[in-house]
Order: sequence, then C-alpha cells, then structure tokens
Amino acid sequence: MGQQLKFALLGLSFQELTGIAGSLGQPSYRARQLYQAIYRQRRWDLQTVSTLPLEFRNQLAQQGYGIGLPEIEKKFSSSDGTIRYLIAFTDGRSVETVWMPEGDGGEAGDGSEADPEVPSEPALPRNQRGGWQQGKFQRATICISSQAGCAVNCQFCMTALLGLERNLTAGEIVGQVLTVLNDRQVSVDRERVNLVFMGQGEPFLNYENFMQAVRLLSDAEGVGVPVSRMTVSTSGIVPRIHDFGKEPIRPKLAISLNASNDAVRTGIMPLNKKWDLETLLAAAREFPLRSRERLTFEYVLLDGVNDEPQHAREVVELIRGVRAKVNLIALNPGPEIDFKTPQESRVLAFQKVLRDAGIPAYIRRPRGRDIYAACGQLKRTV
Ligand code: SAH
Ligand code: SF4
Repeated sequence: MGQQLKFALLGLSFQELTGIAGSLGQPSYRARQLYQAIYRQRRWDLQTVSTLPLEFRNQLAQQGYGIGLPEIEKKFSSSDGTIRYLIAFTDGRSVETVWMPEGDGGEAGDGSEADPEVPSEPALPRNQRGGWQQGKFQRATICISSQAGCAVNCQFCMTALLGLERNLTAGEIVGQVLTVLNDRQVSVDRERVNLVFMGQGEPFLNYENFMQAVRLLSDAEGVGVPVSRMTVSTSGIVPRIHDFGKEPIRPKLAISLNASNDAVRTGIMPLNKKWDLETLLAAAREFPLRSRERLTFEYVLLDGVNDEPQHAREVVELIRGVRAKVNLIALNPGPEIDFKTPQESRVLAFQKVLRDAGIPAYIRRPRGRDIYAACGQLKRTV
C-alpha cells in the first residue's frame, strides 16, 4: 500500500474530503465517516476502515489515495519518561516529535500553570486499549515540529545547524501527533493532552500549513485537542504575530525573547536586525488576548551573556504593561553550541528580580536532556 500512495488524505479538511467523495459519486456522509476514521479513530490503513463500503475503499485506492500517516523511524527513551521520536515522511525526510508525560513541576508541560479543571484525584476510567499507568488520570505534552530544520539561525539552538530543509505540510504536522498518540495509546477525551509547537522549525515561517494543522487538531469531530491546550512559540516573526492575533481559532502565543536589549539579542538571534525589540514588543502589546489569557515570553539563559540581574531588570522594563509571564530555560547544551549553562543560583537570582517586580516567572525543568530531546536540542542526533 505505502509504495503506491500518490495522494495523502491526511491534512485534508472535511470540505476537501467531501469534494473527493463527491467526485467518486459518494454521498457526503461518507466523507464524514472518512474524516472521522482519519482524525478521530486515527486509522492508518484505509482498507481496514470497515465503516466505509468496500467499493468506496477500492475507488480511493485505485485513485492512489491513502491515509499517509508518517512512520516512527526511531524512538529514544529518557530516564525522566520523555520519549524522542524520529518521525519519517514519505520522501524519507524525518523530524523530531517529543512526548513528555506529566507536566513541568506543577505546571503543564508547556510551562503554563496547572489548569484548575484538571482533577487531582485519579477519577477517570482507563482508555479501553490501555497504555498508560493503570487507573491513574494522566496528562502529557507533545512537542511538534513545523519545519524540517530551521532558517532562523539562533546561535544557541542545535536545530539551526540543520538549516531549513523544507516546510512540513499540514498533514505532516497533524501526522506527528496522530502517530505519537497511537504509539502511546492515548484517548484524547479521557486524558489531558497539551500540544506545543516548539519542535524543529519556526511555525510562523510555515504559517498556512501550521494553521491548517491547528484547525484539524482542534476540531471536536476530528482529533479533538482544544486550542486552549495548545501553545505556539515564535522567535518573533512580527507580521505573522499580527495575523495570528486575528485568527478566530488559535493556540496560546509564546514569544522567544531571549535577551533584554537589541545588542545582545542581535548577537544571539540575527533576526533581531529585521524585527527589533521595539517592533516585537509593540506587536506583543497589540496582541488581542482572550479573557484570562496571558502571553508567554521565553528566555533562554546563557551564562554571562544575558543572565545578569541587570538583564532581568531590563526585561521588567521591556515587558511592562503586557499581561504576560516569563518562562526561564537554562541553556540545554549541545556540541557546536558556544554557550554555557548558568549555575542554578544565577537562574534563581534572575527569577527573583522578575518576581519581585510582580512578573510571574517560572523555571522550566529540562526534559529528556540525556536523549537530546530538550528545547533547542532537536537535530536528529542518533
Ligand atoms: N522556532 C520557535 C519554536 C521552537 S524553539 C522559537 O524559536 O520560538 C522552542 C524554544 O526553545 C524557544 O523558546 C527557543 O528559544 C528555545 N531554545 C532553543 N535552543 C535552546 C537551547 N539550546 N536551550 C534551551 N532552550 C532553547
Ligand atoms: Fe529556529 Fe526556534 Fe531554533 Fe531559533 S530557536 S533556530 S527559531 S527552532
């Protein structure tokens, strides 16, 4: 089957599937069944979708249609429960997708606060196919790639070393999530799954495909992860921040600030020459937040570069007036990265300056560093 697949159905909207069903003389309710088989039941082989008549399945196969789920090429398990997947697409390209069970020390895996809607008691029944720890309410975060490689060239990030290989299609972005959910045997309805677009690539440089993936992932008739449980991180592609603010359905926004003044930021993130801090912060200030929503600023601490108390005081001034919190990430080291991880005392001192100024600031625990699964380490290291 895999070999003769010419057209992947994965990534197509309900309307697009309706068009295909119609062109094969099938009624629209067949398109709905097809849509649900792909996104809700997460099937990987069209031939086994018994809700569809054999004739329709054969028609699709003859036309060269298949579901087109990507495959797990390799899997690395960390001592902290994190799993790094290398996920391969039909052209042989692969990207990383990371599974992080449980949140991040009292917070959700994306560094946001634990949601009060999550019961602390193991109240919910098991998903029928099992998979996670018996009888216990579970939650996890999946970190998704939006591009293979990245063109942005941040000096502290291992993905930058790959350069941009190519954009991922919407189907390839959704496919990472479906593949990991299948491998972990997760029921999205019964267990809390957060999605963060923080893997390889800059989502806002692949904006249309990223947003199409968001719509498919959040549709209650499809994959069914609400956008309130999704966060996208951008290095600061300002025009797309404006577009994103206008989207009727959108994840939460995180901005990789990483420096407190233009001199330091341009040194570690060359894109700051194009969109400097003033432009970036103007976009952040204008960004239309929903009620009770906060923006996240991410800040990678690089020893002796951007982690002095004076830098923290500059951050306080810079983001004044934005309803935001700050996630601090001590550098995850890697070969060919010329920066050092600061001592914990420096990280705590930085956090204290922010907190004393009334800014919620969290230290993100590194996940899966031993298997190169942590932020900025995604470079297909084997
Ligand atoms: N391209 C997007 C999303 C992917 S990177 C962005 O840059 O925002 C996700 C986060 O990892 C960003 O906040 C980035 O600043 C951070 N990061 C990159 N390299 C890192 C490293 N070596 N250690 C810690 N965090 C890193
Ligand atoms: Fe790209 Fe983000 Fe890495 Fe910068 S930090 S190179 S934008 S993936």
